[in-house]
This record gives sequence, C-alpha cells and structure tokens, in this order.
Amino acid sequence: MVQAVVAVGGNVGDVRETLRRAQSLIEQQDPASDVRPAELYRSVAMGADAGDAFLNSAWVLETSLEALELLNLLQRVENELGRTRGVRWGPRTLDLDLIFYGDEQIDCPRLSVPHPHCWYRQFVLAPVASLVPDFTHPVFGMTIRQLYERIARFPLPVGYAGEPDNRFTLSSITRAFPRVELRRVDPSIDSAMAGLSLAIWFGSCDSKPESPFWLHVPSNDGPQFVRDVLTAACVNVERV
Ligand code: ATP
Ligand code: CA
Ligand code: CA
Repeated sequence: MVQAVVAVGGNVGDVRETLRRAQSLIEQQDPASDVRPAELYRSVAMGADAGDAFLNSAWVLETSLEALELLNLLQRVENELGRTRGVRWGPRTLDLDLIFYGDEQIDCPRLSVPHPHCWYRQFVLAPVASLVPDFTHPVFGMTIRQLYERIARFPLPVGYAGEPDNRFTLSSITRAFPRVELRRVDPSIDSAMAGLSLAIWFGSCDSKPESPFWLHVPSNDGPQFVRDVLTAACVNVERV
C-alpha cells in the first residue's frame, strides 16, 4: 500500500455533499483503499473566471493502485460527479488533485507529483497540514507544517528577478496584497537568472538561483498568473 495525498475542492453546487459522494465512489471503486478526510476550508477562487469561493479539503488515501491508475480513478470520479472541462481554473463541481504519491517524484504529460503548485497554496497546505503535518515534501525537504508556516506569515516577503518592465507590473499587482513585502533579490541571483522574463520567490530573498522555490512566471498571461499565485499564497483560508 502507498500513502497518497489528494487535494479536493469545488465551487459549484453542494460541495460538501459532492465531496462525500466522491469519497464513497473512491471507496467503492478501489475497495482496498482507506480514505481519511480533513475538515473543510473556504478559500477565495483563483483565476479570472473562477467564480464563487471554493470549499477545499484533503484526503489521505492508503491505496494499492499505481499512480496513473489512481489519477484515472480521480478523473473518473470528477467526471461522474459532473465535472466539465472548460476554462482553466474555472468554476467546477469537483477538482481532485494528486499532491503526493508516497515520496515518489513523477513527471509525465498527464501527471506531475508532487503537485508542482502545492507548496504555495494555502488551500492545499492548510487541510494537508491538518492530516499529515510531519510529512516531508520529497522535493523541498521541508514538512507540510513548515511549508504552511513559511507562507502564512506577516509580512510575506516576495523576491523577484527578471526584466525591469515586468518588475513594474509586479509592484503594481502586489499593491492589492497588503501582506506582501516586495524585495529585490541579491544582484548575483538576478544575473544568474538573466533571460527569464520574471521569476518570483516567496519567503525571503536569500535563496539560490537553483532553489525550487522560484516560480517562473509564464510570459503569456503573466499578470493573471501572478495575481493567482499571490491569492493562493496570501489570502488566508478559513475553517468552515
Ligand atoms: P492545477 O493543477 O494548477 O490545480 P487544475 O486543477 O485546474 O490546475 P485541471 O484542469 O484539473 O487543472 O487538470 C489539468 C491536467 O493536469 C489534467 O488533465 C491532468 O492530467 C494533469 N495533471 C498533472 N499532474 C496532476 C496531478 N498531480 N493531479 C491531478 N492532475 C494532474
Ligand atoms: Ca487544482
Ligand atoms: Ca485538477
């Protein structure tokens, strides 16, 4: 058996009921599994067209399925419970993301594990920390509790490297996030990252260029991406 961690959430319909049904579908379709759910948390939706606030939670799942079989099962359950795939980060009845599969690192077109965006998302870290606070993230080498505390602090330093134009955009975006303290990075880091349009780093600014905490901002739709990651990192989730 492998211990998997799944982040669960939705913002359309009766999400509490959808999550209960999703859990029982998993238990029916993977009868050897054992699902341990966290409490529910409310979070502001990410994405320009994401809609209402989300309800988020997490499961710790003991499973005998291989990682891709588990992803297939999660996607089947999403589909059975009315998930339609349209806008990225759009409104949805149910989103089931595989965050960890044991301490394996998998990177294939359909599956990246650990989930590459879990480390700065309060709506993932809060419920996961309530279940397995001492689990060590296999890439970052920090426990879930440490990752959560790193983000949920005041002020939250955000370092950046990249082109001057984008820095201007970044400072205008971060004004909407009072908790963010924007800091220049060490000039040697900046020059080591030359050529990138923009990279940001949450935590403090003494990171090395090769640190996994750098988040490379895509050149298309960069401002919306930055707003989304800051929302996920800075807007506190609430237990419901
Ligand atoms: P995000 O992954 O940033 O939270 P999302 O959940 O809105 O975004 P989806 O539209 O639900 O993204 O999924 C897009 C694709 O991501 C899926 O088709 C799936 O194959 C792929 N994927 C890659 N890694 C994972 C993972 N760890 N868990 C779930 N889906 C994954
Ligand atoms: Ca997701
Ligand atoms: Ca998903």
